[in-house]
Amino acid sequence: MQKVITIDGPSASGKGTVAARVAAHLGWAYLDSGALYRLTALFAKNQQIAWNNEAELAKLAARLPVQFDGQKIFLNQKDVTNEIRIEAIGMGASEVAKLPGVRLALLQRQRDFLTERGLVADGRDMGSVVFPDACLKIFLTAPPEIRAQRRAKQINISLQGVEFEKILADIQARDEADRNRAVAPLQRLPDTLLLDTSDLTIEESVKKVLDWYSK
Ligand code: C5P
Repeated sequence: MQKVITIDGPSASGKGTVAARVAAHLGWAYLDSGALYRLTALFAKNQQIAWNNEAELAKLAARLPVQFDGQKIFLNQKDVTNEIRIEAIGMGASEVAKLPGVRLALLQRQRDFLTERGLVADGRDMGSVVFPDACLKIFLTAPPEIRAQRRAKQINISLQGVEFEKILADIQARDEADRNRAVAPLQRLPDTLLLDTSDLTIEESVKKVLDWYSK
């Protein structure tokens, strides 16, 4: 068994925040695997490579000039921490993530995040593909409406109206694409514990993960 906690789940579920806090609490490393797919999409866009050009994208993903520095992410020395979070890049990430060549190119890079300290990794296939021998596997989720409400509060927009409806539609579209793809689809496997965060604060979710780990 590997000293790895995997936290998979749909978009905007809060898994990144929970995973980072669990890692900080345990003193383990943290892998935000979605960032690698987002960086691949952004890098391709900057180089005018289409998000369905598998051969070129796989080459690009294999040599992503990325640097993780605390909370900050640099691509080719440029701080892209905020740029990769916009929904258009999220959709691009979901496009490039469909391609087996891209997933393969990123596989070892993700595994390299594991050190002796231990690792908390979040994404879609952390427990199923990247770290199948993880000591604790979690599927963290909440209904799309609740995830959309949290996202809206984060960026300070009203919970009614077109902007909110757009956030909800984007979340649902990305979940749908991630669930229905042929490779590494978003799914909860039987060896994975379900953490529904609908009624939980971030602190409560973190505590739940730590409780499961210490059992
Ligand atoms: O987690 P995040 O929203 O940043 O991920 C962006 C996209 O990257 C997801 O919608 C998904 O298509 C893809 N992804 C993936 N496998 C992962 C992490 C992310 O396919 N392990």
